[in-house]
Amino acid sequence: MTRWIEVSITADGEASEAIAQELHKWCHQGVAIEQTGIPPDKWDEDEVPPAKELIVRGYFPENDQADDIKAQINRAIGYLNMLYPMPQPVYNVVDEEDWANAWKAHYHPVRIGKRLIIRPLWTEVEPLPDDVIIALDPGMAFGTGTHPTTQLCLEAIEDSMPPHLDVLDLGCGSGILAIAAAKLYATKVVAVDIDELAVKITLENAEQNGVAEKIVAQQGSLETLITSARRFDFMVVNILAKVIITMCDQHLGDLVRPGGTAIFSGIIDTQADDVEIALRKTGLEPFARRQQGDWILIEAKRPAL
Ligand code: SAH
Repeated sequence: MTRWIEVSITADGEASEAIAQELHKWCHQGVAIEQTGIPPDKWDEDEVPPAKELIVRGYFPENDQADDIKAQINRAIGYLNMLYPMPQPVYNVVDEEDWANAWKAHYHPVRIGKRLIIRPLWTEVEPLPDDVIIALDPGMAFGTGTHPTTQLCLEAIEDSMPPHLDVLDLGCGSGILAIAAAKLYATKVVAVDIDELAVKITLENAEQNGVAEKIVAQQGSLETLITSARRFDFMVVNILAKVIITMCDQHLGDLVRPGGTAIFSGIIDTQADDVEIALRKTGLEPFARRQQGDWILIEAKRPAL
């Protein structure tokens, strides 16, 4: 049975966002921020209310990288501590069952963009008539809608994807972006991931959301796609700046049809210029950026012939 390490840090409201952003780097299923006590409604005028206390919580697998991850988290929190007082992270080992239940308690539907709602499978929502709901079991693959890089992609897909296209979701994780594209506009989506488990979960999630006939999920990466000679009108790549830059050197831009669009996410603001240079080298023209916190999404076009 897989076991998980729960990391939790108790902090005030101001520190909790910064901590959550750090933990997101290692806790790929998401990070929950939980309120510990309900503050009283009223305070005497001369009484100072205590800082609101929150618990930031995330999980990573207990495997041979776990000690290394702990050391990295401790280091990251140590750096934050230089700017703002930070408590020590607390680590607990939990088994798979407790992990799944812990998440069930923490997950809530999230509204993203204008019409999208990400609904964890065990929760209910009351949608507005135009809402598009994506029901997800967080499972084991990244992509539950809580990460800023995913949210930026969902917003960009909703705002700028033209209808009836052939779409590629490269690095599909849970399939969240492929499903959003299929539910909103796309005719056909190819979802690719190097991780076999991500492909399996994408197929399950596509089925769950009634778009299985529009989505083809396969294990692979850039090479598989380049050699297949399949080309796309719209491509979404939410991996990491480093991976995107490497792929640009391997003709990533060729996957986009002339006149097509591609969006790139997983980029920290300080890396955005380097990613744009790489995108130009692979024949794409960056034309817009979106930002959430430190994260940047770049929108680019392949010029029409
Ligand atoms: N698209 C999802 C998941 C993003 S996480 C979302 O937006 O939420 C990034 C995913 O890319 C992971 O599932 C990882 O397995 C996959 N990945 C990483 N490197 C890759 C590569 N070289 N080729 C294909 N997929 C890759």
